[in-house]
Amino acid sequence: MMYSTLRSNLSLISKANFQQSVKHAHHACKVLIIGGGTGGCTMAAKLSKKFQNAPDHVIVIEPQDIHYYQPLFTLVGGGIKSLKSSKKHMKDVLPQKAQWLKDSVTKFKPDENIVMTSNGDTVEYQQMIVAMGLELFWEQIPGLVDGLKNPKAQVCSIYGSDTVSGVFEKIKLTKEGTAIFTFPNSCVKCPGAPQKIAYLSEDYWRRKKLRDNINIVYNTSLPVLFGVKKYADALWEVCNSRNIKVNCRTNLIEIRSDEREAVFQNLDKPEIKHTIEYSFLHVTPPMGPPKVLQQHKIITNEAGFLDVNPKTLQHNKYNNIYGIGDCTSTPNSKTMAAIASQSKVLYKNLMDNCAGKEIKMAYNGYASCPLVTAPGKCILAEFDYNLQPCETFPVNQGKEMYFTYFLKKHFFPLLYWNFMLKGNWSGPEMLRKIFSIIKKKDAEVVKN
Ligand SMILES: Cc1cc2nc3c(=O)[nH]c(=O)nc-3n(C[C@H](O)[C@H](O)[C@H](O)COP(=O)(O)OP(=O)(O)OC[C@H]3O[C@@H](n4cnc5c(N)ncnc54)[C@H](O)[C@@H]3O)c2cc1C
Repeated sequence: MMYSTLRSNLSLISKANFQQSVKHAHHACKVLIIGGGTGGCTMAAKLSKKFQNAPDHVIVIEPQDIHYYQPLFTLVGGGIKSLKSSKKHMKDVLPQKAQWLKDSVTKFKPDENIVMTSNGDTVEYQQMIVAMGLELFWEQIPGLVDGLKNPKAQVCSIYGSDTVSGVFEKIKLTKEGTAIFTFPNSCVKCPGAPQKIAYLSEDYWRRKKLRDNINIVYNTSLPVLFGVKKYADALWEVCNSRNIKVNCRTNLIEIRSDEREAVFQNLDKPEIKHTIEYSFLHVTPPMGPPKVLQQHKIITNEAGFLDVNPKTLQHNKYNNIYGIGDCTSTPNSKTMAAIASQSKVLYKNLMDNCAGKEIKMAYNGYASCPLVTAPGKCILAEFDYNLQPCETFPVNQGKEMYFTYFLKKHFFPLLYWNFMLKGNWSGPEMLRKIFSIIKKKDAEVVKN
């Protein structure tokens, strides 16, 4: 016991940028956060401020050195932003007051309040937040991994931090033929992104006067173009007016990259499969909760997501476990914007639970998706669990606007790095309330 305490102390003397060097150590903390991505980093910032005088109270387990602002990947793929602008070192974004264990969780033992890591460490917690995001399952589509590696295959994806920088090159190399963009038969982070990259590519080919030589096809496994009717209607208009062919319930099942052929299956009639020759193929890979989470059925739902109450974000069985972000069972659209709203609810409920109070704060499923349709144009979708629009600004956000494009390109990244990851941004609810009061007052003035 003394030995393990000594080892624990050795590894916790350090700041947030500590790199694990001692194997089989035992650590203990008040709040353990699994994952230092959007959700984990945001919660670490909020909680470590609360426990500033006790730096070992918050431990974050995160294996990666780099933190990406993934919403920029769409603009990186479209040649509008650099990959560099989407990343920072993990040590610079995780709060100094939290302890960073650079390691991966391999085992959850919720009945003992313990997790184990790949280094063989055990970490004991009083409260745990799981923020492990979604894993990309590239290997689930035969031929995809080889296609991405082959520079001549014209296969690309904005979804991987290691694949996104190749996308714009391949858009530029495409001069004719059929360009295909896919949406997989799985949950997807930012379900708008697979079509945003199609719009940016279409715009590029149009500006280069190549558009007449290229057929553009968007093959989606979903039965709809977008889950919220108001924005789906607007997007159908975009596709129709720009001659982008949309095929619903059409799932990519194989790539033969040497022949530049992609095989699709009709999900309503699985016996129907068809092969298309392509000149450009943008793939959104299948994704799901990380395998390690799926293996611990004791804390997941049937689909392998962390099983939490969709309102309180507390685990349905273990009341000292919570979830935030893409890896949870909450049926919202998996976005960074959703995490901002969830962070406020989670912080309040965790604090109330620690204080022995009843937890009451409820997340309403808020999510947002800035649907960039061209450089300078964006439809800013905002909606809740009921798939009802929940717009912040006193304008019709279902229309393509420069203002919302400006937010996406310039303002949201600033907000992310400088406020959200520092625990100071919990979504636009307050702003929405202020705008709705102003709107009401204006309406009264007009009436009178
Ligand atoms: C192309 C693209 C475009 C997007 N566009 C938008 C947009 O316009 N607007 C928007 O709001 N959102 C957008 N998103 C979605 C947004 O980026 C995600 O919803 C958000 O980053 C998810 O945060 P998270 O914390 O749940 O997961 P992540 O940020 O993915 O973090 C999960 C972390 O957990 C760590 N982890 C995994 N396994 C383990 C383990 N075993 N042990 C310890 N740590 C582990 C990972 O290393 C990772 O750092 C986009 C995403 C992509 C890919």
